[in-house]
Amino acid sequence: MRKEGFPYAFNPSKCESCEGRCCTGESGYIYVTSDEILALANLLKLELQVFTESYLYKIGYKYSLKEVVTNDSHDCIFYDRPSNGCKVYEARPTQCRTFPFWDYFKQRVDELKDECPGILDD
Ligand code: SF4
Ligand code: SF4
Repeated sequence: MRKEGFPYAFNPSKCESCEGRCCTGESGYIYVTSDEILALANLLKLELQVFTESYLYKIGYKYSLKEVVTNDSHDCIFYDRPSNGCKVYEARPTQCRTFPFWDYFKQRVDELKDECPGILDD
């Protein structure tokens, strides 16, 4: 898989064996917009307030998904280790849908390769 303007390609078949490295590991923000929050709450059939209190925290004027802290990892609250999958896949945020093609990584391909085994040289 390629995307114009990016100096690398991506092999999504690597996701089956990588154990969600983009959904786990170091702590990081998983930003969600107000539309995405509504979509996630609808998917889980939760009132907005209940969803917000259970799954989000505020960073300045934005919201991020919470993490679950284990011994050696910060897992996204929606990452399911037993199935190696996302519990809200259909409504996952844009930040997740667009990984690994983020502008941030255009100049940081080595950093991306360390995180994602699906990255190939273009
Ligand atoms: S880190 Fe890369 S290979 Fe692993 S699940 Fe995420 S996108 Fe797939
Ligand atoms: S919402 Fe899903 S795809 Fe996004 S970080 Fe969490 S588990 Fe991964």
